[in-house]
Amino acid sequence: SRKLLMIPGPIEFEPDVLQAMAVPTTSHVAPNFIDVFGNALDMMKEVWKSTSGQPFIVAGSGTLAMDMAASNLIEKGDSALVISTGYFGERFKDILETYGAETTVLSAPIGEVVPLDIIEETLKGGSYKLLTFTHVDTSTGVMVAPEAICKLAQKYGVLTILDGVCSVAGEEILQEKWGVDVVLTGSQKAIGVPPGLALLVASQKALDVWKNRKTPVGNYYASWNNWLPIMIAYQEERPSYFGTPPVNLILALEKSLSIICDEGIGARVQRHKRLARAFRAAITSLNLSILPTEDVIAAHTLTAVYYPENIDGALLRAHMVADDVIVAGGLLSEIKTTYFRVGHMGSVSSNDLLAVLGALERALQSQNYPFEMGVSLRTFQDSLI
Ligand code: PMP
Repeated sequence: SRKLLMIPGPIEFEPDVLQAMAVPTTSHVAPNFIDVFGNALDMMKEVWKSTSGQPFIVAGSGTLAMDMAASNLIEKGDSALVISTGYFGERFKDILETYGAETTVLSAPIGEVVPLDIIEETLKGGSYKLLTFTHVDTSTGVMVAPEAICKLAQKYGVLTILDGVCSVAGEEILQEKWGVDVVLTGSQKAIGVPPGLALLVASQKALDVWKNRKTPVGNYYASWNNWLPIMIAYQEERPSYFGTPPVNLILALEKSLSIICDEGIGARVQRHKRLARAFRAAITSLNLSILPTEDVIAAHTLTAVYYPENIDGALLRAHMVADDVIVAGGLLSEIKTTYFRVGHMGSVSSNDLLAVLGALERALQSQNYPFEMGVSLRTFQDSLI
């Protein structure tokens, strides 16, 4: 029977988005495709809330977007600060070091964020070219507040890179207002397009830093030397070529971005918040606990939940799969087998989360976990009214 995919990416996609892909592939320089590509670039600026930034759409996953930001901005020997709230902060450290950065990592304890005064103290004591942070770390469900970090970075003249793979189009992002230099994501999460696109918007300041490099970019495929002229050409409705773009995925992206803009990014973020809060309340009503230690740092795009004591996690998830609901296991190596993750982003609705809670209750019951059947469903309903 039909399975419901409730992992933190890839997600369930809108039928209209899938249909937009299911057409004969045109040339990447066909006039209709040039239009579509240009529209998608324009709509990214609307979703990212950046009027002056430069959008990029390149075939690859979210990791390529991280790689693109790092390889174009880092020169050997530059200092970079990584603010880590889980697995993906660690990944950024590895990528930055690949291009010769000297990194300093500030790691939050599991389920927490790095306090601002520690970030400020570190910025004061070093001379960093850039800092990176994960808006929502998909391994922990922890969300950081970007604006305050960006303000500090500006005070110390440091560029900012926001890993928004699990936040763009689900959490509030105001790239220009906050002054973030690169906001990056992948297609398969709240953007709502099958995996395969690396997406980012770079500020003019970031492009200036790249233009004024003293050494060449140490990457071929991700280099802005190759991609910037292509993006500008599509924005100006001119044909151009560097590497063949994934035509059908970009048709899907244009459709999904237009769905996002029609809903309105403000309304979309509110929908994510409302569902996430109700889902957290439902999880709490089962006496389960989540990884983020405080509500204000709990993401609205996914929830990471500890298995209760004496419950076999793998068996619990297998029971849910047999009931047609797929959730994700843990990702953070230290505690991988102790928790599971539920994605609720993109076109997610209350119906999807009711299905998750129903399957979760039946799975818990199968292992004789003590609770009152239906309590999480009732709590979820009550929270939505
Ligand atoms: N950063 C974050 C916050 C992510 O959630 C992910 C994917 N789970 C990535 C980076 C890497 O993206 P991808 O798997 O598309 O390469």
